[in-house]
Amino acid sequence: MIKEIKNNRLFFDGCDTVELAKKYGTPLYVFSESDIIGRCDELKESFLNKYENTRAAYASKAFCTLAMYKIAEREGLCIDVVSGGELYTAIKANFPPERIEFNGNNKLLEEIEMAIDYGIGRIIIDGLKELELIEKVCKEKNKKVNVLYRITPGVKSDSHDYIVTGKKDSKFGIPLEEDVIYPAIEAAIQSEHVEFLGFHFHVGSQLFDNHSHLAALETSLKLTKDTKERYGHIVTELNIGGGFGISYTTEERKTYAYFLDPMMKRIEAFSKELGIDRPAVVIEPGRSIVGEAGISLYTVGSIKEIKGVRKYIAVDGGMTDNIRPALYQAVYTGILANKADQPKDDKVTVCGKCCESGDILIRDIMVGSAESGDVFAIFSTGAYGYSMANNYNKNPIPAVVLACKGHDELIVKRQSYEDMIQNEIIPKFLK
Ligand SMILES: *Cc1c(COP(=O)(O)O)cnc(C)c1O
Repeated sequence: MIKEIKNNRLFFDGCDTVELAKKYGTPLYVFSESDIIGRCDELKESFLNKYENTRAAYASKAFCTLAMYKIAEREGLCIDVVSGGELYTAIKANFPPERIEFNGNNKLLEEIEMAIDYGIGRIIIDGLKELELIEKVCKEKNKKVNVLYRITPGVKSDSHDYIVTGKKDSKFGIPLEEDVIYPAIEAAIQSEHVEFLGFHFHVGSQLFDNHSHLAALETSLKLTKDTKERYGHIVTELNIGGGFGISYTTEERKTYAYFLDPMMKRIEAFSKELGIDRPAVVIEPGRSIVGEAGISLYTVGSIKEIKGVRKYIAVDGGMTDNIRPALYQAVYTGILANKADQPKDDKVTVCGKCCESGDILIRDIMVGSAESGDVFAIFSTGAYGYSMANNYNKNPIPAVVLACKGHDELIVKRQSYEDMIQNEIIPKFLK
């Protein structure tokens, strides 16, 4: 069990969270290495080892640090990066270049150059001009790079509008209009500077139903067929994205097999029908690898009871270390880590310390009797928490600790006040 209650306290991957809060201070992100390994094992069993010629590229935007890249490498994952900064971090972690793929809807020239210099495995092209940009860089450097096209499959998935990415009106992907997509495919096939492998889609995030993946897959398969028939070119790789949902409060997470088995079955049947080898199949799980592996620890400060309205308990972090509730009404649950056994008979709203009324972490949650100085733990904050952290109100970004079977190790130091102003300059005329 990753989460346990012992002696009235919350333990996480064998570590006493109240002690962690004392040792490292709060707010604090804690990641369970055992949980991450467990996800990777599930992936191996139900996908990577079950089907040949498959890869899982961890979508590192969910949680991107040097240590996480080391874990991903050790566990046999590839990675997906979406910016020069993520690529830089991967390079600093010595991540094998051929196992990196590069996504993003507006890759900068410098980012493409950096990717090609490092020799990364694939670039997933997300716009018509991008091919030209890549060709220009490859020509200058006398290199060739593998590319896929990210398509906009035009499916609407059932998730919050801000994390739905596959519908037609989207800033992501190449639209499917005949006069747009086919010339693009032809140009990539004919280019001397790129190797055109196939198609990519990503339909959205936090999904519990496989219908949008399956619908988008049909679009990719149709394009695969058309590519063969029109240009005699065989697609050798299909990337079916990420988006596999996790448990935040009461949702039950679906297995990887639930999403992947029907898609693999369909791809295998399709390939046979078309008379081609089954293309490599790549997935890009982000949230489902690290989401439940992370928790956030806070210290309770001010408690305000507005009689007959609401009781606020304020913690020492907030939308700076977890912007998801403010950004898209994400819902979390948590517990008083030092009163974990106490009956939960007090309804409170957990808010942060930022100067925004929307800085609420959890609305209306039942807890034990909260007092200033308690440690409050919020669950499932591993994905898009640290990676979206910001310095609003000049709050420093918290430290990150990796826990494993009772052992704890710092993997990101707490930002200092000095760190936050190190790039600031007072012009002469203001001195
Ligand atoms: C964000 C993203 C992912 C990962 O999504 P999760 O919901 O975290 O699994 C995968 N692929 C692309 C292209 C993405 O933008």
